[in-house]
Amino acid sequence: MSTVLNPPPTLRSFRSPTPRSPRLSMLLRSTTLSTAAALPVLTKLQHDCATPLPLLRNIADNMAADMRAGLAVDGGSDLKMILSYVDSLPTGHERGLFYALDLGGTNFRVLRTQLGGRDERVIDTEFEQVSIPQDLMSGTSDELFDFIASALAKFVKKEGGKFVLPNGRSRETGFTFSFPVKQTSIDSGILIKWTKGFSVSGTPGKDIVACLNEAMGRQGLDMRVSALVNDTVATLAGARYWDDDVMVAVILGTGTNACYVESVEAIPKLQGRKSTYGKTIINTEWGAFSNGLPLTEYDRAMDAESINPGEQLYEKTISGMYLGEIVRRVLVRMAETGSLFGKHIPEKLQTPFALGTPNISSMQQDTSEDLEAVGSILYEATGVDSNLDARKMVVEVCDTIAKRGGRLAGAGIVGILQKMEEDSKGVVFGKRMVVAMDGGLYEHYPQYKRYLKNAVAELLGPELSSHVVIEHSKDGSGIGAALLAATNSIYEH
Ligand code: ADP
Ligand code: MG
Repeated sequence: MSTVLNPPPTLRSFRSPTPRSPRLSMLLRSTTLSTAAALPVLTKLQHDCATPLPLLRNIADNMAADMRAGLAVDGGSDLKMILSYVDSLPTGHERGLFYALDLGGTNFRVLRTQLGGRDERVIDTEFEQVSIPQDLMSGTSDELFDFIASALAKFVKKEGGKFVLPNGRSRETGFTFSFPVKQTSIDSGILIKWTKGFSVSGTPGKDIVACLNEAMGRQGLDMRVSALVNDTVATLAGARYWDDDVMVAVILGTGTNACYVESVEAIPKLQGRKSTYGKTIINTEWGAFSNGLPLTEYDRAMDAESINPGEQLYEKTISGMYLGEIVRRVLVRMAETGSLFGKHIPEKLQTPFALGTPNISSMQQDTSEDLEAVGSILYEATGVDSNLDARKMVVEVCDTIAKRGGRLAGAGIVGILQKMEEDSKGVVFGKRMVVAMDGGLYEHYPQYKRYLKNAVAELLGPELSSHVVIEHSKDGSGIGAALLAATNSIYEH
């Protein structure tokens, strides 16, 4: 077990709404309740979620095959294998002032960095986070981009100190945009559709870089977008700046995605488009992977009730948005068929997404004898009273779901490495190779992270896995986007 973390904020604000303290009622019930009736549910769950080595090997093989099929032709596989148009990665020699703008959810971040080349590296960095007003998320395109450009203009006004723009140059920015885009060049891309609660009219079908450039023009801001990238690509670029051996980047946060460095000869669907460097970054969109996943009845029910049934099945099995919800569904079953929490099933427990992945992660950090934190988190999030046996069973459920998720994510990473190795014998497995990881799930769920790393080690074996470094690249995507603005600067060509 890992060390006990700080109790989550929910614990500190914990209050029982009923006169009888939940702990007392838990004690009262513990004598009458039995967890035995819920045990078959757990046993079946563990059976259905099992990820023995042969299954993991199959996942890795399928991932590699699906990647190849997606590179052959558009629509050739679950994996879109999108061309990022990023042909050159940061080398460390970049110099000058560059900006980055990250629009990925309810917040956007602006950042500036002054780069000093090989010796001075990152001289200084400043950033600000701005939350997007709710009404703008369903307003017009011009309103949204005017808001972003005006926040950016305010940030630029504060430029000074170590940040210097050479005379005669325009400012350049990288634009990290985590919505589905059909990229047409490094600095243009058509928005396919808004997701994640955005429904801004007038943007779908338009070049989002043009939308931003026009809004910056209206603000009188002298800045151009030099690189439009997604967050995995920016993470890879940010990590590569410090380490030449970074070849893959994986995001495990609310959702999941991965990108990697590919040779242009290995991309039939490129049809002869050349890259100066012979390499390019492929955005796999691996969340859509599905081939061979060990799915349970709970996964199928969650998927059927989701806004995108049948889609993003790998994402629904391994990423932060879903792990807590899968656990909740299992607990409902245990409550119904095994009376795990007594006769009454609280409404809260039956509410989709009532239990978050941070909740299940916090429960797994509880090392106390009576699992007090588990009891409080359960009560707070789902309204159930629990005795010690029930809590132990809940922790087992959390562990089963985290274990499957982490191990499947590890197998996916090995699938990418395998695909790279097949095309370039010895180049990948013969030397040090770094996988840059980011995202709240990977960062904050120690058991998940350990399961992931163990699966990679099991699949590769001791010799090969000694070359593979899985490394957390915290917030690399912000600076990564600024670095890609630098490598794609109009002044460098
Ligand atoms: P995003 O993916 O939205 O860009 P992050 O990378 O910050 O954002 O990831 C946030 C996600 O990480 C949350 O939705 C949640 O699923 C997961 N997460 C956050 N904190 C924890 C935690 N303590 N334990 C497990 N998962 C967590
Ligand atoms: Mg993110």
